[in-house]
Amino acid sequence: MEDDIRELYQEVILDHGKNPRNFRHPEDATCEANGNNPLCGDKLTVFVKVGVDQNIEDAAFEGRGCAISVASASMMTDIVTGKKVAEVDALFEIFHKMCKGEEVDETPEKFEDDLDKLVVLSGVKQFPMRVKCATLAWHTINAAVHGEKAVSSE
Ligand code: ZN
Repeated sequence: MEDDIRELYQEVILDHGKNPRNFRHPEDATCEANGNNPLCGDKLTVFVKVGVDQNIEDAAFEGRGCAISVASASMMTDIVTGKKVAEVDALFEIFHKMCKGEEVDETPEKFEDDLDKLVVLSGVKQFPMRVKCATLAWHTINAAVHGEKAVSSE
């Protein structure tokens, strides 16, 4: 393992990577999408149950990949559950900027707790290859809830 990557492997990432939350295939999912990051070999399927009011009632995933991609998917499924699709879109936009090391102008107060958790993944901004690992699950849920079947991070 390279030293620079090891630095990213903080305790939280390791924990989520080893014991991913919501690692299952819910039978009642209303949409799903496949995410593929060929640069690293990460492959995820994200399952979402969206209610009538565009509320995400359940989110889960299956697949395999590096610790960062799995940890990101694990954290994401926890965070998006109970949110509206539009809120997840907005949160992804902010998280994506964090990962790319771009400036985030304003974070809505309601996302503060979520962004506090996601900040452990933002260390990838120093490693452009790893940004795709950290954002794959988010790209994939985005594809799922907006009716696309598959997404490739390339
Ligand atoms: Zn990866």
